Amino acid sequence: MKRFEAELLERALAALEAAQSVVVATHVDPDGDAVGSLLALGLMLRDRGKQVTFYDRDPVPYNYRFLPGAECLVSRLPESADLLCLLDCSSRERAGKELADWTGARHSLCIDHHLTSHVEAEISLVDAAASATGELVYELARELDPDFGYEVAINLYTAILTDTGSFRYSNATPAAFAAAGELVARGVDPWEVTQQVYESHPAARIRLLARVLETLKVSPSGKAAGVWVTEAMFAETGSNSEFTDGMINYPRSIAGVEVAFMVRETGPGECKVSFRSRGRVNVAALAAEYGGGGHHNAAGCRLNGRLEEVVEKVFALVDASLQKLA
Ligand code: 5GP
Ligand code: MN
Repeated sequence: MKRFEAELLERALAALEAAQSVVVATHVDPDGDAVGSLLALGLMLRDRGKQVTFYDRDPVPYNYRFLPGAECLVSRLPESADLLCLLDCSSRERAGKELADWTGARHSLCIDHHLTSHVEAEISLVDAAASATGELVYELARELDPDFGYEVAINLYTAILTDTGSFRYSNATPAAFAAAGELVARGVDPWEVTQQVYESHPAARIRLLARVLETLKVSPSGKAAGVWVTEAMFAETGSNSEFTDGMINYPRSIAGVEVAFMVRETGPGECKVSFRSRGRVNVAALAAEYGGGGHHNAAGCRLNGRLEEVVEKVFALVDASLQKLA
């Protein structure tokens, strides 16, 4: 695992070996990388005889429930554990208030690939150059148990597949392809994963997509575009927030659009905002101004206000970030 100093890697492996009880945890609203990397590491540690708590505040989205180990996820923390492994996020707050307030961990390790300046763990395996947290766990897995099996492999493949947008984004590096190639060699069937992740939607999701696309608004410059989704749309189509995954790609797919966003009503006066960039604007910096974060081309934050107000505000701040472009 050349990306980290040998000594750091040794410390991480030693911490994993020494722990008898481990909590593997990831961020709220988990995506494929969060679920896949958490399950892969959790299964490996369980196979090594450790007592593992697979923790996430939120349930596994329907299209990731096929993953081996998904049934192990719980939303309750144990009283204590030797080690907390924070995956795909570097702050406990991102994993929810319950984890942020939890004082039961004796030691902590973070494995993440988000742009971040502060990591809340004793040992930090964080590299923003990694395509996915799953790629980092893959490299760690090869050290922990070079013969890891299919159940770990399919979780890691799914993590890398989803975070690279099916190997379409600029984070689809040689290392990401090499890892994926090796995981396929270990028995993962790409078409099976594709069907489970991208082609197993309930009809309600397609009905919701139709409603969301109707909200499309493009700025006069043509460089910003956004869509939004309300609680009423969820109710009318029999959907919920897990169905919105991927819909933000439609506004970004318009020729000339540099930054796309999606605003989702999460409660009265509360919204979740997602940003996607084509590459010229760093949306992680934009989201960070409002307490969020993410990557250069994909980021998010939470904003308070009525949906219409938040949409206006987001349009204004995206426009301002575009003005700065040469
Ligand atoms: P999405 O828009 O798909 O929810 O998230 C895109 C990226 O931004 C992901 O890498 C995600 O982890 C990050 N992100 C989304 N929302 C937040 C947030 O509220 N806080 C932080 N720190 N990152 C976020
Ligand atoms: Mn990720």
